[in-house]
Amino acid sequence: MAEGDTVMRMARRIERAFEGREVVSAEAPNPRNPIRPGVDRLEGRGLEQAETRGKHLILHFGEDLALHAHMGMNGGWYAYGPGQRWKRPRRSAWLVLDLGGVEVVEFGGTMMRLVRPVELGRDPRLARLGPDILDGPAAVERAAENLVAAPSLELGEALLNQRLVAGIGNIFKSESCFEAGLDPWRQISALDRDDVSQVLEVAARQMERGVETGRRPGRIYRRVGQPCIRCGQRVLSRGQGPESRTTYWCPGCQR
Ligand SMILES: [Zn+2]
Repeated sequence: MAEGDTVMRMARRIERAFEGREVVSAEAPNPRNPIRPGVDRLEGRGLEQAETRGKHLILHFGEDLALHAHMGMNGGWYAYGPGQRWKRPRRSAWLVLDLGGVEVVEFGGTMMRLVRPVELGRDPRLARLGPDILDGPAAVERAAENLVAAPSLELGEALLNQRLVAGIGNIFKSESCFEAGLDPWRQISALDRDDVSQVLEVAARQMERGVETGRRPGRIYRRVGQPCIRCGQRVLSRGQGPESRTTYWCPGCQR
């Protein structure tokens, strides 16, 4: 699943693929892709920057054109060299950018559009995003203020709320609460301000490591029924928040 760390890794992968290259041909094989008519506008373009905002990816192709995408649960961007085996069949790809020698490919997205960069500033999906967890200590501090200002939410629910803090998904929600030793079911109002800052700092650190290594902690997520690696109690799981996203926690050592 694409959380902020994965999206940033994809952005870096795309930037590396583009280095010194431009789009020779652009195709949208999957008929579900809304940018299919007009995809040829990408041809002849070089990439200025691959930007991430939370789980959103924005490819900047100059003053007049940007591609805005969200990968949802299953989407992903890949770069393939000649003869390299693709993850899925070509006909299911949302986007194939042939850069001459390397192809940048997107599978399984939920949203993609071509816009003028000025329109990004008016996009409500981007405008309501909170500070990006991967945007440095000042952003993490602003996110802590946002969480404290939502005292009625449970911690696990608040960490997933992209208006309060952008980029954290279901895996890092559980992993950061576990590492911080905090019960994800506690209301924010019952936590100290320091606890809130700490769990966000932990999430930021875990995700920065994810960007560098591609690995996630794997200490609590999807370990339901197994003994906790810290205290030995059985790990529990239950749906949390308005979308009932599964939270994993240890009732023995998360308070
Ligand atoms: Zn435990």
